[in-house]
Amino acid sequence: MAPQREWFEKDYYKVLGVAENATDKDIGRAYRKLAKQYHPDANPGSEERFKEISAAYDVLGDANKRKEYDEVRRLGAAGNVFGGMQGGNRGFTGSFRVDDLGDLLGNIFGRGGRSGRSGGRASGAAAAQRGQDLEAMLHLSFLDAVKGITATVNVTSEVACHTCGGSGAAPGTAPTVCEVCGGRGVVSDNQGLFSFSQPCQVCGGTGLRIEHPCPTCHGVGTERAARQVKVRIPAGVEDGQRIRVKGRGGAGRAGGHPGDLYVVVSVGRHPIFGRRGKDLTVTAPVSFPEAVLGTTISVPTLDRPVTLKVPAGSRSGRTLRVRGRGVPAASGTGDLLVTVEVAVPQHLTEAEREAVGALGDVMKGDGLREHLWGES
Ligand SMILES: [Zn+2]
Ligand SMILES: [Zn+2]
Repeated sequence: MAPQREWFEKDYYKVLGVAENATDKDIGRAYRKLAKQYHPDANPGSEERFKEISAAYDVLGDANKRKEYDEVRRLGAAGNVFGGMQGGNRGFTGSFRVDDLGDLLGNIFGRGGRSGRSGGRASGAAAAQRGQDLEAMLHLSFLDAVKGITATVNVTSEVACHTCGGSGAAPGTAPTVCEVCGGRGVVSDNQGLFSFSQPCQVCGGTGLRIEHPCPTCHGVGTERAARQVKVRIPAGVEDGQRIRVKGRGGAGRAGGHPGDLYVVVSVGRHPIFGRRGKDLTVTAPVSFPEAVLGTTISVPTLDRPVTLKVPAGSRSGRTLRVRGRGVPAASGTGDLLVTVEVAVPQHLTEAEREAVGALGDVMKGDGLREHLWGES
């Protein structure tokens, strides 16, 4: 599942500079333009912006996620935060939404807001809190992205406290159940027809009282620490892609599950090749006579060079396809797209100048333009 708390806080449409009713095509186009513009290779210091753009496209570029995102935001925009908390079962079709909303509320109201989740629990049990989702940037060389690699990502996040193991209580002691909320973490205030739940002020919503806080984490149960996460990057990842590493985000509290780690990939350039999805691109300069009369050239690929026939009469910019010599991917290897470019020499030998002059005498340029524009 995507990190939904982000959905509430961030306007992905604004990030991509598109209208909320933009078509999938518009969104794709806006993303590619921005990803190019803010690519960390081209624009050092723009990593944050690049990540933001990737995150936005990750959601808006996927029809299902976009639909959910729109829904989550509509609830927020309508000021339904409290309404949602009260009536989680009203007006929502999918049961998963109720959980998501609980998640959202938990983040808005701090630890106490987990009422959406803890409501169904037996009283006395402290509500577990899921760990944070984290995001890390990973720079890959062009070839590593094409072939796949196991990389190490450095992340700094909340981990279980090394002194108390996450309980928050000093060694040799244990937390006790909060006597005010009975361990539920919330207190209810009945006002006629409505009942408002509020985070318990005494225990801060944890449902537990810690009489002797751990000296390292001061009762929180977690501490910040740097760690390294090994991430298997599949062959054929694209620039800006987000890879989810389940359960490698921040540690949960009170026995909650850890969050997920999202690795945003930025792919470096290659001196020869470019990428268009699964296809590899390369430019092949040819001389004017070669383009006119046709020729056979040797073209580099990711492994051995291949021989390619350039047909007679190939225009500059013509693209020839070499099947199966592109980027290997789970869905099949892409193709190599060779774009023929007619080279215009800047320096000529005397013999070449004479030959080109002789060609010009028999091949007039005027005819080309008259053909297009008429006599004007
Ligand atoms: Zn501790
Ligand atoms: Zn309490």
